[in-house]
Amino acid sequence: MTSDNNSSPEFIVPLSSPDLTDAERDAVAAVLQTPNLSMGPHYQDFEAGVAEYTGLKHAIAISSGTAGLHLCVRAAGITSGDLVITTPFSFVASSNVLLFENAVPVFVDVDPFSGNIDTTQLRQAVMDLDAGGPAGRKWLPRRGAVVGGKLKAVLPVDVFGQPADMDEILKVASQFNLTVIEDACEAMGAKYKDRQAGTLGDSAVFAFFPNKQMTTAEGGVVVTDDDAAADFMRALRNQGRAPGDTWLQHTYLGYNYRMDEMSAVLGRVQLGRLEEMLAKREKVAGWYEERLAELPLVETPQVAPTTTRMSWFVYVIRVNAEIDRDALVQKLADKGIPSRPYFAPIHLQPYMVEKFGYQEGDFPVTEDLGRRGLALPFSSVMTEEQVELVCRVLVEVFVG
Ligand SMILES: *Cc1c(COP(=O)(O)O)cnc(C)c1O
Repeated sequence: MTSDNNSSPEFIVPLSSPDLTDAERDAVAAVLQTPNLSMGPHYQDFEAGVAEYTGLKHAIAISSGTAGLHLCVRAAGITSGDLVITTPFSFVASSNVLLFENAVPVFVDVDPFSGNIDTTQLRQAVMDLDAGGPAGRKWLPRRGAVVGGKLKAVLPVDVFGQPADMDEILKVASQFNLTVIEDACEAMGAKYKDRQAGTLGDSAVFAFFPNKQMTTAEGGVVVTDDDAAADFMRALRNQGRAPGDTWLQHTYLGYNYRMDEMSAVLGRVQLGRLEEMLAKREKVAGWYEERLAELPLVETPQVAPTTTRMSWFVYVIRVNAEIDRDALVQKLADKGIPSRPYFAPIHLQPYMVEKFGYQEGDFPVTEDLGRRGLALPFSSVMTEEQVELVCRVLVEVFVG
């Protein structure tokens, strides 16, 4: 594993933490009393629970959020040379799944307030790409995009638990016949104008790594109302076996993206506690806000009016541009407080620069947020004393 400062022993609070009780531990232990560790009853039970929670017809449990996004990309028929509009201010998986199919992510910068894709620029990009010629060309990367690539889809991301402006996205998508894949990996339980995040596009994915609002250890779930897409994704998840295929018959080129039974039962218990955990996360965010709102040179996270329920995933402050953030991270670490820059812009990751020729300055808002964002310790098991401690150290470091 590469370095992950989350659980280093010298830290006095973890950067993130799952919220586990005896109910989770007992449920997982009970699965281990049976011989059914994969493809048993629990993944279907978990899927039924997620389908009910979202009100959608299909929930497909998978081995990770990344796997789920990849399935959505395959189901949308996105293939070599196709263009998909997405955001560079995200976790890399939302763009990587396009590269898996040799498709091209067409980045559109984000709204500085929410960090979600800027829908005015999105509309412009779609219109320009549709028109073709030099107008369309200016949205494409310097290299790595084939001429005449077809715009197939939009892949918005609900950043930090706050839904993207889906009505605007859906409007332009339906006008230009584009598939909408919502990366809701950070937004389980969030609400956009009173509608559940993940239910508005053609398909969406929630992720359950241990730092998310609920966990299955590794895991995720795809949700959709599209029967044909759901059948196809279920087959791809299971090594390409279509309904009726035997164990060694594979109608499609598929993957092993299945969720195991321990993860599924863990997810089922966590889902039952989701509202409780989201309420706790909101409380923790409130404790931070009370203590940091007035701190000069720091902006606390803000909730957009379209977000009628925030599903707090991380607590990311933005420090003033004049502050040396790396030095700040080090000073906090020296005092036992972990923190992490959030996000590093996707277009500036080395393999993206190499493949597409991106340069600093290409997406200024993403880069500005990337330079100033700092995730503080955050979880639903955090106590007010721990928040107080983190804030005391932060204020101390700021005042000198
Ligand atoms: C967590 C996350 C994912 C999926 O991550 P996995 O580790 O593969 O489960 C995808 N997109 C975003 C924006 C995420 O935060």
